[in-house]
Amino acid sequence: MARDPRYDPLFEPIKIGPVTAPNRFYQVPHCTGMGYRRPQMLAAMRGVKAEGGWGVVCTEYCSIHASSDESPYPSASLRDDDDVRNLRLMTDAVHAQGSLAGVELWYGGHTSANLYSREVALDVASLANTSSQGVPVQSQAMSKADIREFRDLHRKAARRALEADFDIVYVYGNHGYLLHNFLNPYFNRRADEYGGSIDNRVRLLREVIEDVSEIVAGRSAVAVRYSMPMQLDDDDEGLIECFQQIAELPDLWDITVNDYRYEMGSSRFVKEAANQAAVAKVKSMTGKPVVSVGRFTSPDTMLAQVANGTQDFIGAARPSIADPFLPRKIDQGRLEDIRECIGCNVCYAHDSLGVPLRCTQNPTMGEEWRRGWHPERIESRHADESVLIVGAGPAGLEAACALGQRGYQVILAEAEQELGGRINRESRLPGLSEYARVRDWRLGQLAGMENVQVYPDNRLDVESILELDSQHVILATGATWRSDGVGRWSNLPFAGCDQDNVIGVERILEGFLPDGPVVIYDDDHYYLGSAIALRLCSAGVRVAMVTPEVALAGWSQHTEEHSLIMETLIEAGVQIITAKGLVGWQSGTVQLECIYSGSESIIETDYLVPISARVANDELWHGLDSQREKFTDRGGLSLQRTGDCRAPGIIAAAVYAGHKAARELGQTEVKFKRDRVVVK
Ligand code: ADP
Ligand code: SF4
Repeated sequence: MARDPRYDPLFEPIKIGPVTAPNRFYQVPHCTGMGYRRPQMLAAMRGVKAEGGWGVVCTEYCSIHASSDESPYPSASLRDDDDVRNLRLMTDAVHAQGSLAGVELWYGGHTSANLYSREVALDVASLANTSSQGVPVQSQAMSKADIREFRDLHRKAARRALEADFDIVYVYGNHGYLLHNFLNPYFNRRADEYGGSIDNRVRLLREVIEDVSEIVAGRSAVAVRYSMPMQLDDDDEGLIECFQQIAELPDLWDITVNDYRYEMGSSRFVKEAANQAAVAKVKSMTGKPVVSVGRFTSPDTMLAQVANGTQDFIGAARPSIADPFLPRKIDQGRLEDIRECIGCNVCYAHDSLGVPLRCTQNPTMGEEWRRGWHPERIESRHADESVLIVGAGPAGLEAACALGQRGYQVILAEAEQELGGRINRESRLPGLSEYARVRDWRLGQLAGMENVQVYPDNRLDVESILELDSQHVILATGATWRSDGVGRWSNLPFAGCDQDNVIGVERILEGFLPDGPVVIYDDDHYYLGSAIALRLCSAGVRVAMVTPEVALAGWSQHTEEHSLIMETLIEAGVQIITAKGLVGWQSGTVQLECIYSGSESIIETDYLVPISARVANDELWHGLDSQREKFTDRGGLSLQRTGDCRAPGIIAAAVYAGHKAARELGQTEVKFKRDRVVVK
């Protein structure tokens, strides 16, 4: 199919200083959890993005000195010749597809605890460390000599960037790192020529832009990453005035807003193209090209951005992770094949845990090199064989798509009338509607596959599975929430868990609405507890939430949702009780135990909703497993379980598991390479 000519403006080349981007699709710098530690995984992943049509593909933040070290998160690194060689892998992979490669030079400042290097971080002042580990150390206030050295570090790194063949070299002026802190009067209280007036506060950023420009002149473009205030009429940092001073200095502006919760906003709280007022403001103040992110997944929204002049490039991190081939699909007129990001921030969560990123929608993300998985291509079937998949939640749907793509004869049977499993129930909760994309993209793919037959409203048992005579059976029957409180804090049920008015999560998800006050006990620590609380609040139910951790919904700190979850719960009037475990329930009384002292307390309420662990729906598995002989006698070749019915987890884990089961069907040897330093 050919491209709809309406989208032509997205495919027009554009100059960025001395280089030319082939189109308007720009993968901005984004973390990967791979960085300097996994150069081969990183290069393959970035190369796939370029293959998928991203005209510019950038590194993540790239350390220029040992004192800029955010271990355990692995940044990229451009500190010596070995780094140059490693990053060449990426630039070669990107150039091989005709795209430009960008590198984001980075010096952290007081945000860097330097836990690996044990160096002292420099910054505009001696500021307390603000890393998520909350390390009790401070930065060293920079002297003039330090400033000269800092500028020199950038010059050296820019030279290495040229050696590594980068086309765009970034100066990093935001995200609370050193250069941003010089701009910010809240941190910058200096009395010398680098503090005080706007001119002075912007001086160091200006000097570094000039230094880097001088080094790369004529060979690479210089980009600056910069934040605008969230509210343009509330610019207490003076970011707009600072910008005016340097508006024409670099070759490109990469613009964000100065509140990471919104820049990296999850779909629960921030929708597509949310930061456009800030971007339009920048565009009105500079003649240089502008790129910005907005979790763009709709080609029409993208087109509007470029056509109405809000920005010159469609910046993307998450949409390029969920679908590395998004630009190609627009180019080829295959809009229905675009796998849209759901805004869950599971990608970011894993980077923030210091491990390679992964994606709920795209199970191949991060697996390009080590497993040889490509987001669009998959090995053809190993033989003309049939596969039965039982259960059409995320795992079953993904397995059916991938096996269908491989060319097997596939039957997908689902007990419910509606396909989608947990997605159907959870995506109806407040803020989670975009999660439905996990189901909808897969249903769209399956609709075009003649070799996949789908049977909703078909609950299979052992006998019916055996009768179907499929050569391969994959069980993806999911898991069920427990209502007895067994979970992370306690491996024993609480007393009275089987009494009246203990309401399981499944009942709430099915629509049960309590007619009196509710205590939600959250030992799951992710999105579900708060989403249920907000649904109940919106129906007028009074809610208290109890958690055995020191913070409610603690895991959502990794997805950058925590602060907005708390803000929303507090605004909705939810009472929050932390560090208390659930020990009992008796006719309207919740009994709690302090996790430290063991002292007991009670809360009076009408209903208790415990959210803790889940139980795998594995009866079918055990039934079949015990009748393997019957299965093989009838020509059965393989039997496996996948997703939540094997080990309950997050949606991303189920999609990945379903994909893995499909990829590995019929394979005798499973590929898994390790990207690590090998001593020679
Ligand atoms: P996962 O996240 O692992 O995909 P889900 O719980 O989302 O798991 O989905 C499991 C799906 O399996 C549900 O839609 C459920 O209705 C379906 N299912 C469970 N048991 C059977 C069965 N015996 N026959 C057909 N479908 C089943
Ligand atoms: Fe989008 Fe979630 Fe994938 Fe990240 S993990 S790219 S937020 S779908």
